[in-house]
Amino acid sequence: MIKLEDVTVIYNNKTLGIKDINLEIKKGEFVGIIGPSGGGKSTLLKTINLLVKPVKGKVYIDGREITNLDTSSLRKVRRQIGFVFQDYNLVERSSVLANVLLGRLGYMSSLQSFFNLYKDSDYYLALQGIKEVGLEDKIFARADRLSGGQKQRVAIAKALCQQPGIILADEPVSNLDLKVGENIMNYFKKINEKQKITIVINLHDVNLALKYCHRIVALSKGQVLFDKKTGEVDEQL
Ligand code: ADP
Ligand code: ADP
Repeated sequence: MIKLEDVTVIYNNKTLGIKDINLEIKKGEFVGIIGPSGGGKSTLLKTINLLVKPVKGKVYIDGREITNLDTSSLRKVRRQIGFVFQDYNLVERSSVLANVLLGRLGYMSSLQSFFNLYKDSDYYLALQGIKEVGLEDKIFARADRLSGGQKQRVAIAKALCQQPGIILADEPVSNLDLKVGENIMNYFKKINEKQKITIVINLHDVNLALKYCHRIVALSKGQVLFDKKTGEVDEQL
């Protein structure tokens, strides 16, 4: 489903992002990426959907190499990959519904998206996503009126609205209190179990990774320190 083969990313010809990464993630896995700040977690996630381009190696999604795809083919691959950010990445002055509908943009032509020509099926998917994260009573609320946890739930609903096979989440709970963070992790757990969506999540908090993820990949200095099933990780981390 996701495969990285000898992937190296270097920024501006000088700063190492990740080095010689070999990683295979199967459909339905729930993988936590941990490691020190600057270890390469964010670079790894961004490499999976080619937000950053490797200088070496190959990236595969569903068995297909995507490393050198043209922009329009890459757009089609990316619409099956939801991305959840640390800072939510919402349009603050728009409603929950409007934000979640943006998850459909990848499926629309530029003309359709310019005129906001959503179809009934887009609204249906948006409402399903909103329900999945329990925000039915906030559908028309403006994003900037929501709490951090609610904003992140909107971001998850937006990702779900893409009908993704994969969700990548880059430190999605780092700006939240532990309790709210656990609540968000439970939503990831639910959509992983119920919808069989593959989840790869960067986590600063090792304990959260141990509690929710099935597999832990530890990165340091851009390289894999270990890659284990959660039950086999030494708790003395
Ligand atoms: P983490 O997510 O584990 O904190 P990152 O992937 O953000 O690690 O960073 C890995 C290395 O790449 C760091 O040295 C960081 O400074 C560098 N880096 C990340 N993004 C950029 C960028 N856009 N331009 C230059 N260097 C970057
Ligand atoms: P993260 O923990 O997700 O890497 P950062 O705060 O490190 O977040 O990075 C925020 C943004 O700045 C990202 O888009 C990242 O690509 C970029 N960035 C990170 N490190 C550097 C760097 N050393 N030089 C330039 N841009 C960077």
